[in-house]
Amino acid sequence: MILLEYEAKKILSNYNIPIPRGVVIKKEDSLDTISLPCVLKSQVPIGGRGKLGGVKVANTATELTDIATQLFHHPIKGFTPSTLLKEEVIAIDKEFYLSLRINREMASIFLVAHTDGGVDIEEHPQETFYKKQVVSKHDVTSCGQTLAEYLGLEEKEFLLTEIIERLYNCFTREDATLLEINPLVLTKQNTLVAADCKMELDDASDFRHPDWEFEAKKHNANFVTLHEHGTIATVANGAGLAMATVDGVAGHNLLPANFLDIGGGANEASVYAAFQNIMQYPNIHGIVINIFAGITRCDEVAKAILQAKTKITNLPPLYIRLAGTNSDEAKKVLQAHDIILYRSLDDCLVAAKEATQ
Ligand code: GDP
Ligand code: MN
Repeated sequence: MILLEYEAKKILSNYNIPIPRGVVIKKEDSLDTISLPCVLKSQVPIGGRGKLGGVKVANTATELTDIATQLFHHPIKGFTPSTLLKEEVIAIDKEFYLSLRINREMASIFLVAHTDGGVDIEEHPQETFYKKQVVSKHDVTSCGQTLAEYLGLEEKEFLLTEIIERLYNCFTREDATLLEINPLVLTKQNTLVAADCKMELDDASDFRHPDWEFEAKKHNANFVTLHEHGTIATVANGAGLAMATVDGVAGHNLLPANFLDIGGGANEASVYAAFQNIMQYPNIHGIVINIFAGITRCDEVAKAILQAKTKITNLPPLYIRLAGTNSDEAKKVLQAHDIILYRSLDDCLVAAKEATQ
């Protein structure tokens, strides 16, 4: 599950990782007591909010009310926030990228950094990133010096080392699969602050964390990232069919972005949430939807598909195969909206492959 920024930052602060001072704002909250100027940030579970109008500075009380109202009504890639994060404005000298992530091929944790963090991080070639395999706390501590040199933060070596050690503690103890600070800011006051945070937790370790009560939970089903830069996203019901769908994608030499089992109790809202989740990936060229419905109802899936079609801008092409409970009804509805249906998973994949060539 991917946490919202304010949820992730709350966890960072438990590990004494420096974050900007801030408060969480819900729609019904009064804005009277808020100090100015401040930054207002839309709490949606995807990155790139800065470029999409989700991060704004308010200088006056009028601006604050206007911006808050605007952000609460401004969907970002299909997500409308129910929470805003209001933070002190930080004076940025430099922005860095810093993350810990699971590298599945290597079955290991990697520390990844870039000198040039911030909103354009996607544009840097892979080879310009600092990458270091860290299998123990000792590995983390011992790369403090080289990381400081790479980032040009030699004077900040001790602080930086302390930050990466704390991030590592946080990453391992919280069962994270991704902990990304972008940007890590060097302020004009010469301190380091985690100005933004994306944290993905391993749903499989939910049982170890009775405290995991996140707003982000409602956005997620059994959703696992496979390749962040994958080109094909998948939606299926049942773990077996979901795995077969991912295998099918890979078997056609396409890169699957995710595994998703919408589960037997899936309804329109939960399937729509799956589409929203998929929109977080930067490289999706197609979504393969493979439903063989028993308990799941195809008409609920169809309603979610129509909702996604109307509400989500830039929704990639859909390759849909529906069979089982209420599939006739679902097909009628979808075909009435000129949505193409395929007879089998293989037909979906052949079409997806053709479209990407
Ligand atoms: P994202 O676009 O979803 O990753 O959202 P971020 O929280 O990373 O914000 C995007 C960009 O807004 C950052 O890279 C900063 O350049 C800028 N930004 C965010 N907060 C502040 C702030 O307090 N002060 C200043 N000057 N810029 C900020
Ligand atoms: Mn960011």
